[in-house]
Amino acid sequence: MNTESELAGKVAIVTGGSRGIGLGISRELAVAGARVAVVAMNAERTGAAAAGLHGEGHAAYSCDVSDGAACRETVASVVEAQGPVSILVNNAGIARDGLLLRMSGDDWSRVIETNLRGAFNMIQAVARGMIRKRSGSIVNVSSVVGLMGNAGQANYAASKAGLHGLTKSVAKELARRKVRCNAVAPGYIETDMTAGLDESAVGKLSARIPAGRLGKPSDVAGLVRFLAGSGASYITGQIIAVDGGMAM
Ligand code: NAP
Repeated sequence: MNTESELAGKVAIVTGGSRGIGLGISRELAVAGARVAVVAMNAERTGAAAAGLHGEGHAAYSCDVSDGAACRETVASVVEAQGPVSILVNNAGIARDGLLLRMSGDDWSRVIETNLRGAFNMIQAVARGMIRKRSGSIVNVSSVVGLMGNAGQANYAASKAGLHGLTKSVAKELARRKVRCNAVAPGYIETDMTAGLDESAVGKLSARIPAGRLGKPSDVAGLVRFLAGSGASYITGQIIAVDGGMAM
């Protein structure tokens, strides 16, 4: 199949699509022919990201995914302006790291509300339309930390492990309606989220990764594009690591 037309005519929502992994995914889906709705908090960055995508028909939406009403309004705006949604990528995420005994309740809640509740909010907002069309692909961006746990990231790991349960439950509920739901679990990827790591930390991390390097947003985006497209039509409920072999 010609990769430039693989997703032609499809509307894709990418949350957190304004930078990092989400921007990589927005770019990849646009190159494959989708009309992308870039959803993030910062309006300026979100607008610039949508404007820079390959092709036409993309748009930017400023929305806090932890706010259910805002998600419903955003999805309604996307459907009105761009058409029915075929692809939802729940990529928006934050980290508020700290050791368990020092972690504040606020840091716990904010991470769960954004990373897990945010995905629930967006899935609920798009599901009816996908069921009606008997077609849809939902991809949740999780983390290997959701599979392995990580000291200093109890909130983040719990949110990502929660995404795995959400992914499998949605997959089971919606499979008969031809709506698929999968998760990708990146390892360490070079973005703003990991920009604080100094050279020695990157060196130590790389030594733990069989591929010997951190990943790039494009490493994750290629898998998301595959899961979004018809080549993955018999794949649902899966958690697929993109981590250079780290979580084997
Ligand atoms: P990033 O560079 O920090 O970008 C985060 C994105 O999420 C931004 O577009 C941000 O928008 C958006 N966002 C944050 N809170 C939001 C909210 N409440 N509502 C809507 N949008 C919100 O992060 P990243 O490294 O690309 O990570 C993307 C995803 O991959 C996250 O789910 C993360 O947990 C996961 N992940 C990352 C890594 C890694 O090593 N980088 C590894 C495993 C998994 P604004 O700019 O407008 O705030």
